[in-house]
Amino acid sequence: MAAELGRKYVIIGNGIAGTTCADQLRKADPACEIWMITNEPYPLYNRVSLPRYLQGALPEQKVMMRDFAWHEQMRITLLTETLATRVDTDGRVVYLDHGGPLPYDALLVCTGGWANKLQAPGAAGVANIYNFVTLDDTRELIARALESKEAVTIGGSFIAYELTEGFNVRGVHVTWLQRGPYWLRATLDEEGGMLVDEIARAHGVDVVHGEEISEVVAANGVPRHVVGSSGKTYPADVIGVGLGLTLNHGFLAETSIERRTGIVTNEYLETNVPGVYAAGDVAEFHDVMVGGHHTMGTWDNALAHGKVAAVNMAGGHQEYRDVPTYTSPLFNTNIAVMGIAETNNPTLTSISRTMPGDKGKDYRKFFFQENRLVGAVFIGSPKGRKKVVELIRTGQEFATPTDRAGLFDVR
Ligand SMILES: Cc1cc2nc3c(=O)[nH]c(=O)nc-3n(C[C@H](O)[C@H](O)[C@H](O)COP(=O)(O)OP(=O)(O)OC[C@H]3O[C@@H](n4cnc5c(N)ncnc54)[C@H](O)[C@@H]3O)c2cc1C
Repeated sequence: MAAELGRKYVIIGNGIAGTTCADQLRKADPACEIWMITNEPYPLYNRVSLPRYLQGALPEQKVMMRDFAWHEQMRITLLTETLATRVDTDGRVVYLDHGGPLPYDALLVCTGGWANKLQAPGAAGVANIYNFVTLDDTRELIARALESKEAVTIGGSFIAYELTEGFNVRGVHVTWLQRGPYWLRATLDEEGGMLVDEIARAHGVDVVHGEEISEVVAANGVPRHVVGSSGKTYPADVIGVGLGLTLNHGFLAETSIERRTGIVTNEYLETNVPGVYAAGDVAEFHDVMVGGHHTMGTWDNALAHGKVAAVNMAGGHQEYRDVPTYTSPLFNTNIAVMGIAETNNPTLTSISRTMPGDKGKDYRKFFFQENRLVGAVFIGSPKGRKKVVELIRTGQEFATPTDRAGLFDVR
């Protein structure tokens, strides 16, 4: 890193993006001042491990990644249970809900997103309705799962699936409601989505599509059942909500920092306001791999962003260029998402196939921008994943249908 030393850095958000950035800044500049702010009460923990903690497959101490002593040793001042409420980019100051304002030379915003709440009639003020984003959510979910018999989960993406599996593993019967015709619509197609339904049903989950919660019926402040948009009722003494995130950048409303779905950055993760950077889930970054902007809600992406942001905040000039990957268990099988796998992206085309696999069926889908391979999804065997990531990374072209079909054989 080439920069004057002894600068003052403020990082809002202590997830993997923020904590990685703080770590790299300290290593690069022993004289700098680093302030990191989080509204949560904990140092960095691993959100990716929360599903296994929910299932009882991992103890809580294995979820924690840093402790307060590490921050002291690294001379990173961590302000917990503190909310950044406003930023003055002319004066280069961050305002907090308590405590003095923090001046900065360079600011990183890596605030992730708040989970969207269930808005259905009857839900307000009722207990035992949970999102699943934080360690505190997970503690409450575990306590409730131990007491429950019937769960309803709602949502068509990863978090709803993780809630469904968590309850299922804890022996709670689950009805999984999804508004859309199949799971993970933004990435899969009907064929892939149906395979996931098959797997969930084989584990005893009732999967219902085209259904939303139109009412929560409660007694004594806790759910009894929910009424679906079809008029059917489903028993529920606990409700798990996976209805997406709203990215956290409302506190920048008084600034001229460009915000769309996320905070818009260039390929160096710098916003349109000098000295202000964004990273991780909240960044709508310019991705040189596809020549456009998008957000990416994955651990590896947030970690890699944290590293690149640190270089550039300290005066370097490193562009972000990576193939993010997301892998997750899916009941007794796996799902891996690599690169840009976006069904609704009009600049991409795709091919997919379901084949017999070692453990049931293997589904594979590949995404192309013009002829270049830019993304892929595997359900089932992960064999060949590293080779495919390399093909994406090196921008390999697949011009003919035969070339493209050959990708199904990569192992
Ligand atoms: C249950 C679950 C399972 C997941 N599984 C996977 C997986 O298998 N693979 C994968 O790749 N990804 C997974 N993810 C996604 C992954 O965890 C995220 O992409 C990653 O943690 C994002 O990191 P981040 O640093 O950008 O933000 P976050 O980890 O969201 O951290 C942001 C922090 O900033 C705080 N904050 C927000 N606003 C303010 C404010 N104004 N002031 C102070 N603090 C603020 C937030 O409370 C939070 O603590 C999972 C996520 C969840 C919730």
